[in-house]
Amino acid sequence: MDMPTYTPAETPVPEGVVVIERASTPQELGRRLNRTAADVVRFLMQQGEMVTATQSLSDEMLELFASDVGAELRLVDPGEEQEVELRKVLAVDDLDDDDDEGQDSRPPVITVMGHVDHGKTKLLDRIRDANVVAGEAGGITQHIGAYQVNQGGRPITFIDTPGHEAFTAMRARGADATDIVVLVVAADDGVMPQTVEAIDHAKAADVPIVVAINKVDRENADVQRVMSQLSERGLVPESWGGDTIMVEVSALQGTGIDELLENLLVVAELEDLRASQDGRARGVVLEANLDVGRGPVATVLVQRGTVKVGDPLVAGAAWGRVRALIDHTGNQVKEAGPSTPVQVLGLSDVAEAGDDFIVAPDDRTARNVAETREHWQRVASIGGSAAAVGGGARLEDIFEQIQAGEAATLNLVVKADVTGSLEAVTQSLKKLERDDVKLSFVLRGVGGITQYDIQLAAASNATILGFNVRPDRKARELAEHDNVEIRTYEIIYQLLEDIQNAMVGMLAPEFEEVVTGDAEVREVFQVPKIGAVAGCYVQNGTITRGSKVRFLREGTIIWKGTIASLRRFKDDVREVNAGFECGIGLSDFKDLKPGDVIETYEEREIPRV
Ligand code: GDP
Repeated sequence: MDMPTYTPAETPVPEGVVVIERASTPQELGRRLNRTAADVVRFLMQQGEMVTATQSLSDEMLELFASDVGAELRLVDPGEEQEVELRKVLAVDDLDDDDDEGQDSRPPVITVMGHVDHGKTKLLDRIRDANVVAGEAGGITQHIGAYQVNQGGRPITFIDTPGHEAFTAMRARGADATDIVVLVVAADDGVMPQTVEAIDHAKAADVPIVVAINKVDRENADVQRVMSQLSERGLVPESWGGDTIMVEVSALQGTGIDELLENLLVVAELEDLRASQDGRARGVVLEANLDVGRGPVATVLVQRGTVKVGDPLVAGAAWGRVRALIDHTGNQVKEAGPSTPVQVLGLSDVAEAGDDFIVAPDDRTARNVAETREHWQRVASIGGSAAAVGGGARLEDIFEQIQAGEAATLNLVVKADVTGSLEAVTQSLKKLERDDVKLSFVLRGVGGITQYDIQLAAASNATILGFNVRPDRKARELAEHDNVEIRTYEIIYQLLEDIQNAMVGMLAPEFEEVVTGDAEVREVFQVPKIGAVAGCYVQNGTITRGSKVRFLREGTIIWKGTIASLRRFKDDVREVNAGFECGIGLSDFKDLKPGDVIETYEEREIPRV
């Protein structure tokens, strides 16, 4: 029988070294070398090797084909080796000079930690509002995951996701982004469990702590008590002969903020933080998401070097030529140096928080590295999801399974607003695993909860956990129909507490937030003295003045509060029904856009059966 003769295809093979995993299949090899799987199979047949398109190939076969088409291969093992090889390809080591001498000093990067409700968010907002030089974009600072302020001409960078969960999730991925931790302790509440956790996490990371004793404006504030509680945990204030800087602040009234910032600069000085401004930029991804208009967007923190528009960049499994850089004031910038947070546009894909990024020597290398990583991730995820199929329980049934002495697996679909929080939630959840209870993540994703999530959860007997996201109407209906449990949270520790309680059979009654109405924003007006008013169309239910409300953009919660005012034409009204237009006063929230949804809700306890 005549063998078909092999004729090389016309498309040129990629130039330079192509990194390929050992035991790749003809399909994978072909894809990376601009050939079809059939090309590979045909060629190997000619060599007397009978293989299928999805069969693993030996090193010899991979190299035989590569040399035949004129490509240069570098074969790597799966696992740790991969990254080592990729670092070689990226020539990372050429960039490492640990010689601090002659390097430029750089701004400190700060993470704010502390117990829930002690004022972390308020403090971050206060610092930002008072010190960020408003950009041209109308003075509205953008939430990009981090921001930079100027204190007496000296910059300080703040990571905008407070709490130790995100901090530790980043560290778990090898990213040490933080130079100094600001530990917020409310003076009226004192040291609480998460204060202690935060201290432990900061110490584990060997990051210096500056204490902000907050809410000193409160009548029952007791600064001395906080100081002695902290001293018991090894943080002794300077005024007592220790070496921990403690500053009294009121995030609410804005007092003590300057002193806090000054002290951060003092600590930064002592730490002698340095990085070279020159050379290819490197750093870490703080947040990433898919923006409808702009494509994949990643906020990165530059740690060394300077990233410029036009640079070929790799961030995890995403790559691209930097199309635009946007700073935290919403302005486009041409470049960003060490300790600067900046949004990067132009990536091929959504990177993950904690991924490192690096400017590659050229486009080809950037692409090669990203595609190799993507391939490995895919291989790993196929293995992971296959393991998830078969068995597993929902939150409500988990205790029964544990009691029955079965090895219980809790199947979860986790959705969050941004990759940073998704990462934080999953990392914290993983820590709850016990010998007798395993967690299986059927899906982890960014964005609102959709009908597809419900379908997947129904199919895999999973519970859906939403963090700062909401199910849309279709998803809610389908969940009810398919009896899929959705639990949504805005505070990580409440989410963790629920899961822990479920594991001991004490799942708290669910307070379902019953949606009472929703309205679509058509237009936003500025009314003198009143502020922003949203012209809306009520789509479902009834909108009632004073009711609890959240603003959603594509299923993600962007604001929560109450409806301050409600009008039909010029009249104040108590409620507006579906099918009518109305004006909704937004109190202090200004950033609404047409197309956003205003959703009102009530909380009702769901009896357990
Ligand atoms: P987080 O959970 O630590 O981020 O806490 P938040 O920043 O959300 O603050 C919790 C509550 O404490 C909010 O109602 C704040 O308005 C309030 N708060 C924050 N800082 C202060 C302060 O300095 N003084 C007073 N009186 N209230 C504050």
